[in-house]
Amino acid sequence: MAEFDTDLFVIGGGSGGVRAARIAAQHGARVVIAEEYRMGGTCVIRGCVPKKLLVYASHIHHEIEDAAGFGWTIREASFDWPTLIANKDKEIARLETAYTANVEKAGARVLKTRAQFLDPHSIQLATGEKIRSKYVLIATGGAPNHGAVIPGIQHVISSNEAFHLASLPKRILIQGGGYIALEFACIFAGFGSDVTVIYRGDNVLRGFDEDVRAHVRSEMEREGITIITGCTVNRVEKHAADFTSHLSNGSSIASDQVMFAIGRHPNVANLGLEKAGVAINPSNGGIAVDSFSRTSVPHIYAIGDVTHRLNLTPVAIREGQAFADTVFGNRPVEVDHADTPTAVFCQPEVGTVGLTETQARAQFSHVDIYKSTFRPMKATLSGRDTRMLMKLIVDATSDRVLGCHIVGDGAAEIVQVLGIAVKMKATKADFDATMALHPTAAEELVTMRTPTARHVRQAAE
Ligand SMILES: Cc1cc2nc3c(=O)[nH]c(=O)nc-3n(C[C@H](O)[C@H](O)[C@H](O)COP(=O)(O)OP(=O)(O)OC[C@H]3O[C@@H](n4cnc5c(N)ncnc54)[C@H](O)[C@@H]3O)c2cc1C
Repeated sequence: MAEFDTDLFVIGGGSGGVRAARIAAQHGARVVIAEEYRMGGTCVIRGCVPKKLLVYASHIHHEIEDAAGFGWTIREASFDWPTLIANKDKEIARLETAYTANVEKAGARVLKTRAQFLDPHSIQLATGEKIRSKYVLIATGGAPNHGAVIPGIQHVISSNEAFHLASLPKRILIQGGGYIALEFACIFAGFGSDVTVIYRGDNVLRGFDEDVRAHVRSEMEREGITIITGCTVNRVEKHAADFTSHLSNGSSIASDQVMFAIGRHPNVANLGLEKAGVAINPSNGGIAVDSFSRTSVPHIYAIGDVTHRLNLTPVAIREGQAFADTVFGNRPVEVDHADTPTAVFCQPEVGTVGLTETQARAQFSHVDIYKSTFRPMKATLSGRDTRMLMKLIVDATSDRVLGCHIVGDGAAEIVQVLGIAVKMKATKADFDATMALHPTAAEELVTMRTPTARHVRQAAE
């Protein structure tokens, strides 16, 4: 009898697990992958993909408003939330089928069930089956975290439920200042909901460049979204038809839905990690891994959100690929997380790569800032009151571009490409040598010639 039933058991069929399973199988490994909910994981089922579909839908409201300045008359535009949700669900179901088919086509066995460790090599399935595997990959992702239990917390929804609301809330209160909170705030506002954002910190988008934070807030407020900072929801009261949220500043707000998006925790509970001897990283609560995503147990690896390193889909996919190439492809790969481009699909959207001004000034002695805010060309005829922000952060000693931050239409698409230049360590001179593409908003990035600020750190005495 073979010592192991399989070469690799993957727990979790999300972005990272699916990639790892498929590539490991293509490398010739016998692979089993277990998914307790729906294949595709957070990104496909209740994250990036459905979110972006809702973002597209809510943008159309802007297009309709802007059309008048370009000569269009659009009569009787109306929006039907159930139609959007049904169409979104159809697309998600298609993707789920495609994900399953691709993994199976590569030769992996897909099990629609929960899995947990019995011992370092044995996996117990909720179906009753036990499987012994030579290697195990933990790719269980993360889940919304509502924070401290407050009275009425059972009435609060997370992003998971927001994708399945039966009707569009006329008024919604969203607690949180991160990207998920802001994206949903703008989605609902785009459909005409009255939106209030409550955030305990001093400004939204903690960790982003300060200019981006200020710009996004003012743009969202201009769109009619109420943002209350330095405040938390202490209690949620349910009435027959709506809710009242009681805030730490003593005030209260009525709404039809209350949503929290205040953070996510790695899915490490009830996995039997203690039976397997897998250690948790005490600094972030995720599974502790080395640069090859190997846990404290040499034949067990962990990738993606469950490690709580950089919780983004492309990162989980890259880590899954690197794991499979390292263990089954005879090609050790460490994933480089530096200069990962990211976006916030609020309105207007944010695209960012590299260091913030604060980070750059802490790490480099001479930092030049190139910053421009301007009215995008489209707004001249539409009359929309909006401004775009472009900011480059440059190490004045080496001339290297350390960071780039954009707020405005197309920011995410621009920054994906700009990420290549930043990763290649392009200099400001390289940017300047690049011919502008006219008329675009992005041409601003290669035409900003004079620093708007120069920061020189005095040497310590
Ligand atoms: C609302 C929202 C919007 C987002 N938007 C973006 C975005 O625009 N861009 C971006 O890059 N990222 C975005 N993300 C983050 C992105 O979705 C995650 O980083 C990514 O899905 C992580 O992949 P993963 O494989 O680590 O985990 P997941 O995709 O979460 O997959 C883990 C899977 O494991 C399953 N599972 C858990 N425990 C078990 C078990 N014991 N047995 C069997 N199965 C189990 C889960 O059901 C899940 O399907 C968003 C997330 C959310 C919530």
